[in-house]
Amino acid sequence: MPDLSPLLDRIVQRIGAHYVLTAPEDMAPYLVEERGLYHGTAPAVLRPGSTEEVAFIVAACHAAGVRIVPQGGNTGLVGGQMPAGEMVLSLSRLDHIRNVDPVDMTMTVEAGCILDVVHDAAEAVGCLFPLHIASQGSCQIGGNLSTNAGGTAVLRYGNAKELVLGLEVVLADGTIWNGLKRLRKNNAGYDLKQLFLGSEGTLGIITAAVLKLYPQPAQRITAFAGVPDPKAALALLARLRAEAGDALTTFELMASFGVETVLKHMAGTVRPLGGTYPWYVLVELSAPTRAFDLGALMEAGLGAAMEDGLVLDATIAASEAQAAALWRLREDMSEAQKHEGGSIKHDVSVPVSRVPEFLERALALVEAAMPGLRPCPFGHVGDGNIHFNLSQPVGMAKADFIKEWQRFNRIVHDVVSELDGSIAAEHGIGDLKRDELAHYADPVALKLMHRLKAALDPRGTLNPGKVIAG
Ligand SMILES: Cc1cc2nc3c(=O)[nH]c(=O)nc-3n(C[C@H](O)[C@H](O)[C@H](O)COP(=O)(O)OP(=O)(O)OC[C@H]3O[C@@H](n4cnc5c(N)ncnc54)[C@H](O)[C@@H]3O)c2cc1C
Repeated sequence: MPDLSPLLDRIVQRIGAHYVLTAPEDMAPYLVEERGLYHGTAPAVLRPGSTEEVAFIVAACHAAGVRIVPQGGNTGLVGGQMPAGEMVLSLSRLDHIRNVDPVDMTMTVEAGCILDVVHDAAEAVGCLFPLHIASQGSCQIGGNLSTNAGGTAVLRYGNAKELVLGLEVVLADGTIWNGLKRLRKNNAGYDLKQLFLGSEGTLGIITAAVLKLYPQPAQRITAFAGVPDPKAALALLARLRAEAGDALTTFELMASFGVETVLKHMAGTVRPLGGTYPWYVLVELSAPTRAFDLGALMEAGLGAAMEDGLVLDATIAASEAQAAALWRLREDMSEAQKHEGGSIKHDVSVPVSRVPEFLERALALVEAAMPGLRPCPFGHVGDGNIHFNLSQPVGMAKADFIKEWQRFNRIVHDVVSELDGSIAAEHGIGDLKRDELAHYADPVALKLMHRLKAALDPRGTLNPGKVIAG
């Protein structure tokens, strides 16, 4: 390990000693991630306060041959933000909203803005920023864009990538690229921002972004339904889309085990329907006007589906509080699952039409592979994205179960691959799935990824070993 003191001294001089953390107790929060799967190590955590300070640090590290891991809110689920001996560069002090423009319908924000703060700023001018994920109270917009986050409104508004007009990025040698355009149309050469969206901090450090805003919904209606199987859920999706068109904002599928787990462990949750059903869906319709009655649309859609046997029972929220209670059954699922011991997780997607086939095949294979396993599949079925989570058999040691992760990866990802799906739907590749990507990716695509990395970061300064081997 080279002597880093001269480099750290220069950085201290530029950003201040207070923002260069080296004591283990100060660095600790930056070195563990949500699930406790990763325990990072780093010589220092650097907390710059401006784009220029980020650029200074990156240039200095690049020149010294020292590697950097960018970190946002540290809510990532694939270990992308965890260092293995590299410097951590935290974006959390870059938290200013530079501009909100309700005429352009844009907001220019710095990378360290917490997603909930972005929501509030949009709402303050009567607008909506429609990226909604359960970690929105702590994840940052830079992390959201770097992972191309998904969430529960992708059906209507698209992934994080689709919500961006411009970016400001610090490149691997410290150069600042100012691409903060607020344009809806811009075909002037290559669309460079796409290189950095979803590249998990391996090609550049996002320091600011121009986000797209949408009109605030004037009405929103939430329903929860019990369905016999995923095939019926898809038929219901098609029917509601035909009825409600673009107003269909959320369509989430949950297995019975997941809902029961939430009801068992999460205080204040309430059983939504009189009976229990094998599968459930959470549906939301929203519209920016009151020109038509969403409640009537939902009622008619669910009623007709019930007559056809696609829906076994359903409830429509009559108040904000009831809607929030229904949402908790979906949003608390990951948290509730922690109470059931070890969990092996797969964030996968297949073409929407193939979700039932995926679930049928994958469930049969994993259940046969380990008696007593308790599958907990749920997710954004309207986007073909299933969180195919597996809870350990009751009584098995958690550590013994987690050791089986790779065996289950192969089972689940083989099915995904055969169905022309993706092994990484919305959480990214990071460290967790790097080898899986190398196993399943098209060889030409993989080669192009390596060439891109070599072109933009020839010295491997940024987030080495994440996404692709470095
Ligand atoms: C309870 C819970 C629920 C979740 N639900 C969802 C969900 O529904 N949908 C979903 O997509 N994700 C979900 N996630 C995952 C996670 O919240 C997202 O991946 C989020 O976008 C990460 O943002 P972050 O700021 O925490 O980034 P971090 O975890 O800090 O970093 C994630 C990656 O981005 C890189 N990075 C961070 N900031 C920058 C930057 N400014 N420039 C360049 N690279 C950067 C890091 O190096 C790392 O590779 C959930 C996580 C939790 C804990």
